[in-house]
Amino acid sequence: MNKPAEFNPQVKLDTVPVWINGKALAPAGRHGEVFNPATGRVTKKVVFSDAALVDAAVQAAAAAFPAWRDTPVLRRARVMQKFLQLLQAEQKELARIASEEHGKTLDDAMGSVQRGIEVVEFACGIPQLLKGEYSENVGTQVDTHMLRQPVGVCAGITPFNFPVMVPLWMFPLAIACGNTFILKPSEKVPSASVRMAELFKQAGLPDGVLNVIHGDKAAVDALLSHEGIKAVSFVGSTPIAKYIYETAAKAGKRVQALGGAKNHAVVLPDADLEFAADALIGAAYGSAGERCMAISAVVAVGAAGDPLVKLLEKKAKQIKQTPQEGFYLGASLFDQVTPGMEIYRNEIFGPILIVLRASTIDEAISIINKNPYANGTAIFTESGGAARRFQNEVQVGMVGINVPIPVPVAFYSFGGWKSSLFGDLHVHGTEAVKFYTRTKVVTTRWPHQDTPAPGLDMPTLG
Ligand code: NAD
Repeated sequence: MNKPAEFNPQVKLDTVPVWINGKALAPAGRHGEVFNPATGRVTKKVVFSDAALVDAAVQAAAAAFPAWRDTPVLRRARVMQKFLQLLQAEQKELARIASEEHGKTLDDAMGSVQRGIEVVEFACGIPQLLKGEYSENVGTQVDTHMLRQPVGVCAGITPFNFPVMVPLWMFPLAIACGNTFILKPSEKVPSASVRMAELFKQAGLPDGVLNVIHGDKAAVDALLSHEGIKAVSFVGSTPIAKYIYETAAKAGKRVQALGGAKNHAVVLPDADLEFAADALIGAAYGSAGERCMAISAVVAVGAAGDPLVKLLEKKAKQIKQTPQEGFYLGASLFDQVTPGMEIYRNEIFGPILIVLRASTIDEAISIINKNPYANGTAIFTESGGAARRFQNEVQVGMVGINVPIPVPVAFYSFGGWKSSLFGDLHVHGTEAVKFYTRTKVVTTRWPHQDTPAPGLDMPTLG
């Protein structure tokens, strides 16, 4: 097993280190390669953590927990505010790193970093979010209050497609709630997480509160089986989400595991087809279709079908792929797809849009509700009644009405239904505060002379 070694600055450009107890470490042992997907060139190596390194991270997080949990919530909020300022100042650099390691365009990366930063803005309001409840005189001279306490050491495991945003969905709120955290970003895009840990330290976060490890299944399995970890947040593909949920829950941990998607957009005949087609082109082909909220299936209803497909075809052909060299995929459009086809049944996660035809809105809703994925969906229509019915009947976690990618803002919560999320609570917003805290209810009586002595019967307090 690897023994953690101090990071050697001379290899900083070549090796993405882990970040444990406020220090970058690059021990010898298993490494992975990080490459630029646009050029295919290997740009860095990344440390792959083994069980000993994972244990070192958990020990650091466990040691930091008591003091951080007891740090006044206003001071925790101030660290968060400073972190927010540093992230804002560093937004371009984080976007550059995300673009280089994921392959998305710089503008697209800037937008996704912004969405992540908004979660930190929300986390700055943690004093308000952690307020409990109090009831006076629930019985004779008896008061009751509910308080929220952090759960302990939490872990986050994230996918390759949002190197900054998805980690920011998790660790800022967990830490604001008083937990300590171990982040395991995708081994394909490891650098931004280490940079964010450095910035958080600069903001005043004590060593050990945020740790970053890297690696593949071996690192993840070491996290899942470690008894020091109390809660696991995961975002990635559905088979791995299911595995994470089952394994971590069996080990007694609290789990939220967000999985893959096949997001449908319904286009009704009364929709503004030009507007709908523009929205669908962006939602299907933006970031090369590598968004869990990308629209990958259009359900065109009735007379909307033929003109919509013509518009989509014209607009898809106008998309430029700019460089002459490198790895680029053009946009693909498939019409007359049916639910039995492979191209419909599987998540492709590429710049591919399929069109199914339906005769009525009922048929369109029924197609969506039969699909095992249920992350996001959208409807394009001018009819308020049809939109209202759609939002009421569709069995999907996030719904857009004339909005193609309905990613909730940071103060709402993000998450799908069915095979797109295993667990009960969604990420960020108030559901994250619930996920990263446990409630405790305290019943109090301060006896004085006329307080009756407790008897043997079940106390009713009244
Ligand atoms: P992935 O499931 O392959 O990897 C996600 C994480 O799991 C990574 O950190 C990876 O190292 C780890 N991992 C991979 N294989 C593992 C295994 N066998 N055992 C344990 N851990 C393992 O996902 P990806 O390819 O990085 O990301 C794309 C997927 O993520 C798509 O399916 C996409 O829809 C989904 N996604 C979902 C959301 C959402 O909010 N629901 C958001 C972003 C991405």
